[in-house]
Amino acid sequence: MKFTPAKPPLTGETLETLTARLVERGEPTFRARQILDWLYKKRARSWDEMTNLPKSLRAWLAETFELLPAALILGKKSLDVTDKLLLELGDRSLIETVIIRAPQEGVGLENSRKTICISTQVGCAMGCKFCASGLMGLKRDLDAGEIVAQLLQVCYREDAHDPRAHAGLATFDNIVVMGMGEPLANYEALILALTIVNAEWGLGVGARRITLSTSGLVPKILRLADEPLGFRLAISLHGATNEVREQIMPVNKAFPLEKLLPAIQTFSEKHGRMITLEFILIEDINDSFDQAEKLRDIAIDLHAHVNLIPYNTVEGLPWKRPSNNRLERFADVLRAARISVTLRREKGHDIDAACGQLRLKTEKDRELALA
Ligand code: SAH
Ligand code: SF4
Repeated sequence: MKFTPAKPPLTGETLETLTARLVERGEPTFRARQILDWLYKKRARSWDEMTNLPKSLRAWLAETFELLPAALILGKKSLDVTDKLLLELGDRSLIETVIIRAPQEGVGLENSRKTICISTQVGCAMGCKFCASGLMGLKRDLDAGEIVAQLLQVCYREDAHDPRAHAGLATFDNIVVMGMGEPLANYEALILALTIVNAEWGLGVGARRITLSTSGLVPKILRLADEPLGFRLAISLHGATNEVREQIMPVNKAFPLEKLLPAIQTFSEKHGRMITLEFILIEDINDSFDQAEKLRDIAIDLHAHVNLIPYNTVEGLPWKRPSNNRLERFADVLRAARISVTLRREKGHDIDAACGQLRLKTEKDRELALA
């Protein structure tokens, strides 16, 4: 289930791999830095802009690499609290990348903090019952270049009104890997992409500003715990007992709570940092007092932050979000135990819900975009 592009994307190269390619061609090693500088700091969008490179080298680059493997086909002109960018890949697959702005008093929307939600797969194989990506099944993994390209597209969009662009910095603040796909099921490409995003020759985004969200692939969580870059981790728990979790997340059969929770513990101990438990609240599925109490106990044990996410309805699925009163009562059980908990209810402001909502709509959007 791999797509092999005619030319590998430049956004999938590291300083080392690019240097090796250039040296093989008889170029001096400093050329690799120059090229990456054009790509990530000066945001060149064509080979011709790379004016300090010899013409023959530019021609070779154009023959050898795709500069950016994801083209923007739809994005609103005005800035909104959440902006969805619809991107088309080399095989015409569509993915979405979301910009979520955190409005602050006295600060214009264009200067607010930005969190970017990126996708790691086209569709998803995990089959969570409440999720539109799950409904779609897995079409394919993204490669590292396609993951990185989403963030460059965001920079292109934001550079005009974000002064950080002049310093060659990324024009966003945080990254959440919560778009389409299960990030840890595409482990190698994801880590390579985030290494590029983090590198000083790349976009220079600190690992602490990057959060990976997983449905709970235990062996991969343990592997992530040993990565040199300390990314933040969020776990899609959504059920505080096996019985409830299994009903909505098939992954719980392979990795039930008695395996998942110790893996999270190991990760936290190695990182010395708080992890987040995400808990979508779905009416009559996991919003009972008993689930709240069990979630409270898990959060205490793991010393975790809890993010309660009111379910965003998905067309064609029967699930509903609980009433506000019920949401508050659920949250109160956690608050009473002094657990760090967030419950965001404003529509569209919710990072997780905004990402969780990307699903399926893309195919419809394409019809609209191309109509
Ligand atoms: N596959 C990973 C990351 C992508 S999903 C994971 O499951 O963690 C990102 C988040 O959106 C997850 O917590 C997921 O459970 C949530 N989500 C999916 N569908 C949603 C919906 N309809 N409403 C609210 N959140 C949803
Ligand atoms: Fe995949 Fe995450 Fe959706 Fe589950 S919630 S189907 S793991 S994208």
